[in-house]
Amino acid sequence: MDTTVRLYSTLTRRREDFHPLEPGSARIYSCGPTVYRYAHVGNLRTYLFADLLCRVLEYLGHQVTQVMNITDVGHLTDDQFDRGEDKMLLSARLENKSAEEIAEFYTRAFMDDAAKVNIRPAQHYPRATEYVPRMQELVGQLIDRGHAYEVDGTVYYDIASFPGYGKLSRNSTEQLLAGARGEPDPRKRQPGDFTLWKAAAGKRLQVWDSPWGPGFPGWHIECSAMSTALLGERFDIHTGGSDNVFPHHEAEIAQSEGVFGHPVVGYWLHGEHLLLSGSRMAKSAGNFFRVTELEEQGYDPLAFRYLALQARYRTKLNFSLEGLAGADRALRQLRARVAEWREGEDGPRGDFEARFRAAIADDLDLPTAMALVSEVTRSSLAPGARAALLLDWDRVLGLDLGRGAEAAEPAELPPGAAELLDRRASARAARDYAASDRLRDELAALDVRVIDTREGQRWEPIR
Ligand code: AMP
Ligand code: ZN
Repeated sequence: MDTTVRLYSTLTRRREDFHPLEPGSARIYSCGPTVYRYAHVGNLRTYLFADLLCRVLEYLGHQVTQVMNITDVGHLTDDQFDRGEDKMLLSARLENKSAEEIAEFYTRAFMDDAAKVNIRPAQHYPRATEYVPRMQELVGQLIDRGHAYEVDGTVYYDIASFPGYGKLSRNSTEQLLAGARGEPDPRKRQPGDFTLWKAAAGKRLQVWDSPWGPGFPGWHIECSAMSTALLGERFDIHTGGSDNVFPHHEAEIAQSEGVFGHPVVGYWLHGEHLLLSGSRMAKSAGNFFRVTELEEQGYDPLAFRYLALQARYRTKLNFSLEGLAGADRALRQLRARVAEWREGEDGPRGDFEARFRAAIADDLDLPTAMALVSEVTRSSLAPGARAALLLDWDRVLGLDLGRGAEAAEPAELPPGAAELLDRRASARAARDYAASDRLRDELAALDVRVIDTREGQRWEPIR
């Protein structure tokens, strides 16, 4: 069955039929993390959107190659206005470690967190520090082509040299500049010019020699260098969060098209933000959760994935623990049902498969796909057919629906543990936390881990 995928392009502001450069394949570049701190579930929503895109394209028969960069140099604290301190060095200073140690630690943490919500690994994770020679090559070509100029060892992109500047964000240059706060850099020809290569200016860590003297790359040139190095000078899809549209992706277009002289990216896709109490979840604002924190509170990390599937990727989504608790319950129940039904008789599946494919092909309409999941659970299809449909769709949904057996048949408590659990529940009700902690340790000695949730304590065997 051939299903045409439609995707919303930020560049044209329209839903377009997806025509990959090579029929049946899809080459995707996803803006990845700056590895100077933990990712929060807001960041994960953006990577989850990219994961869903890959899974949907694969489900519909495409061969997918995904590249996700790891930014480990050059991302300044004020990236909107091309100023501030390098985020990597800031963390290195605060944590009293080297930039390499910081990068190593937070890259691993990112991979672990992504795995917890079933984000499948990309095929390539290029690290910016490994592509500095290629970045210098592109910067040199931009200077040769009249798109960039050097002042005191720093190279700037001359936005006036690229008539298409602003086409992605639809910001006119005047509007872009009106947004610039504070003193403009006097070395720039125009305040909106952005940095491609920055002179070291006394900085000693994360500095490379270059034709313009010692320095380090700007954040935007990194993505032009890594995307085209691994995917070639034309590829299909570029993803990111909505805040990446400007300046990051606007700059990437000016750089890549400035070098190659033609469009590089077929479709630009952007995911909307996760909000907490109405504001964007952000580390700097202090309003965020890490996925491990949700797990410590007793929620299945995939409950977050379930929650994210309830909204289209281009709409803002409000996060709340109440919403998460509801998703957690619904997910456990769904798994238990699948475990029961998969033992049952198979039978005809009606038009569910065609409707599921139509939903996901329609710019990843996962809320409609999840409504179909509910419809299947309430349908009169044979139990085996219901289970088969849901397990097949789980290749896209990624909710581990086949895991339910354990929820349906809970492990047995070791002798004596039930009484300890009862005593602990009473201790907590009486707010006697010293006793409750002691009982937690006693239970751990019996290989029982206790997890406190809003609905009370749960337990699981310690393997
Ligand atoms: P950052 O660490 O701020 O560079 O963000 C990494 C990625 O997460 C970027 O692609 C951002 O667009 C995205 N992002 C940041 N905050 C949020 C949020 N609250 N919701 C969704 N995505 C976000
Ligand atoms: Zn990027």
